[in-house]
Amino acid sequence: MIRQFELVERVKAYDPSANEDLINRAYVYALKAHGSQMRASGDPYFLHPLEVAGILTGYRLDTATIVTALLHDVVEDTGVSIEEIGQIFGEEVARLVDGVTKLTQIELQSDHAKQAENFRKLLLAMSEDIRVLLVKLADRLHNMRTLHFIQKPEKRRRIATETMEIFSPLAERIGMQEMKNELDDLAFSQINAEARDSVLKRLNYLRDERSTLIPGIITELEETLSHGGLRAQVSGREKTPYSIWRKMQFKDVPFEAMSDIMAFRIIVDRIEDCYIALGIIHNAYPVVPGRFKDYISVPKPNGYQSLHTGVIGPQKHRIEIQIRTTDMHDVAENGVAAHWTYKAGDRAGKQTEGKQYRWLRELLEILENAAEPEEFLEHTKLEMFQDQVFCFTPKGDLISLPRDATPVDFAYAVHTEVGDRCVGSKINGRMMPLRTRLKNGDQVEVVTSKGHTPSPTWAAFVVTGKAQARIRRFVRLKELEQYRELGRAMLERAFLEEDYPLTEKGLKGILRKYQEDTVEGLEAEVGMGHIPAREVLESVYPTAKKQKESMASRLGKIVPLGRARAKRKAHAQGGRSGIPIQGLIPGMAVHYAGCCHPLPGDRIVGIITTGKGVTIHTIDCDTLHKYEDEPDRWIDVSWDHAETDKQIHVSRVNLTLLHVPGALGELSNVIARGGGNISNLKIVSRSPDFYEMLVDVEVNDVKHLSEIIAALRATPVINAIERARG
Ligand code: MN
Repeated sequence: MIRQFELVERVKAYDPSANEDLINRAYVYALKAHGSQMRASGDPYFLHPLEVAGILTGYRLDTATIVTALLHDVVEDTGVSIEEIGQIFGEEVARLVDGVTKLTQIELQSDHAKQAENFRKLLLAMSEDIRVLLVKLADRLHNMRTLHFIQKPEKRRRIATETMEIFSPLAERIGMQEMKNELDDLAFSQINAEARDSVLKRLNYLRDERSTLIPGIITELEETLSHGGLRAQVSGREKTPYSIWRKMQFKDVPFEAMSDIMAFRIIVDRIEDCYIALGIIHNAYPVVPGRFKDYISVPKPNGYQSLHTGVIGPQKHRIEIQIRTTDMHDVAENGVAAHWTYKAGDRAGKQTEGKQYRWLRELLEILENAAEPEEFLEHTKLEMFQDQVFCFTPKGDLISLPRDATPVDFAYAVHTEVGDRCVGSKINGRMMPLRTRLKNGDQVEVVTSKGHTPSPTWAAFVVTGKAQARIRRFVRLKELEQYRELGRAMLERAFLEEDYPLTEKGLKGILRKYQEDTVEGLEAEVGMGHIPAREVLESVYPTAKKQKESMASRLGKIVPLGRARAKRKAHAQGGRSGIPIQGLIPGMAVHYAGCCHPLPGDRIVGIITTGKGVTIHTIDCDTLHKYEDEPDRWIDVSWDHAETDKQIHVSRVNLTLLHVPGALGELSNVIARGGGNISNLKIVSRSPDFYEMLVDVEVNDVKHLSEIIAALRATPVINAIERARG
């Protein structure tokens, strides 16, 4: 166990300006907070945060990070609040601890092994401060080091898989190669212990067999370089069992010679020396073609720099060599953590910190976005993942969406059918509107209903291409279907009125005339108002033309005078009702007129508008005067109650309200009590005594509206009320 003073000394060794007092207080605080809690190993829990802090001192991290490491589990595990952390340790530490806690919660929530790539991105996106991620990685490293204490094999396996798929690649992305190697190897021993054992056995055998080989190669390389006049440090390192295993898997190479498991490294002082060393090596040994890479002039996206080459080296062994400066070596091993510098006398440190972190943030974003080194510069000014949000399904699956995505986008991302049937959404357990913009880490539950179809209104707020395309396609198909249905009904009526049979055969016979391929196409054209139903009748039965005169005169009776009477007469005569506007979705083939707001129960009439289908008006709507000279545009329609009862209709009332306190409240109360809902309200005029206003109320039908109007009439603050028409 690292003792209190030891921890402080470690930090002070690399950062003389470290806040000793803060570290001491955090040490004691965490020790007390975790109290008698135990780890799976049987050790006191406090050992864990302490070890995590210890790991981070190895990366020479600042006071706030070390303090955060000590406190990283107190919020999640002991119920201490972030506010309390903030009061005791200051805002910076509180923010970092909060960040680590959020990552832990996300981690617990997600079944993330399945979506490693997205999960890595989420962790990066949520680590607003790189130090949060560093603490999380150190936390994972210590948990992996103590993984063998966990009893259940499935749990060990799950944690190991997660480490390999999520945390090790994360460590690699931020350039922490050493940590990555250790995480991988610990995970490897859990996931494939047998493979690791066999690699280890082979390693030991080779080591015994050629125990002098490595030192020999090192010595010879050093001599070769110094003959060339260069002072350099040469080291040889065994690859880890996991990286050997990976190499065998990937390249399908047997692992036979010691040189397969050795990487030699030449470390020099200056960048120029790297190229000098390369020249000396290439001059002294045959080069293996295709192995040379210059990561100094073109660094890897994670900032890694080195020259790589392969030669047939000393004693004819094929070896791999990396050449780099001391600084590059530090970055190669420690990644972003290498950039914490505590230069002696750097008292401006506190002020430059912000800049330092910004730089790291930028680095992160480059790591994630830059597929090619050329993109490196282009991306430096972008915020990390500003264009993405990551949300969870209730099962913990992670869905990646563009910024400003809504639950509808989410639903379509889950499955096309889920999107089509979506009727509502719960975000983090609360019902929220479908147009809500989602945030990182939101858990989204899509409420679906069988037989439900996409709403054309969604097109206005969805942001994903998939949702857009699906909704548009649905709207187009549905529209066509509606026009077809409407056209069919219009044809049926036109034929019936003249007592001609409407047959498939008859319609087929005239397709060519209208340049249509199918009967359905012709019906849709009629529904859209492109071809009058009457004209189709005359095309099929030219004899019908003779009766046109009388037809026109009959229609003439309908308009302009006594429309209602004529309708009644038509109904009485034929015993036929109008075309039921059944299943027709308002806004597609059928529109409710905005002037008179027809309601189920109202007597209605349809006006055909070319290309737009039918607009429904109440039969006494003033607007109808405009169509008096166009009898062909009028069609008889009726409500289909089975369908329209389920819909909500907007009606409009015109009312005069006394200008007294509470009048508006009284008005909305009465409407609400009547089961209506105010959807819009417009003040038409006001005087000292009265307000005249138009109120749009959502109701079921005309009876419902009449009840509400009656209730309003009985309300003292309401001076006059009537349904608005035209
Ligand atoms: Mn922990």
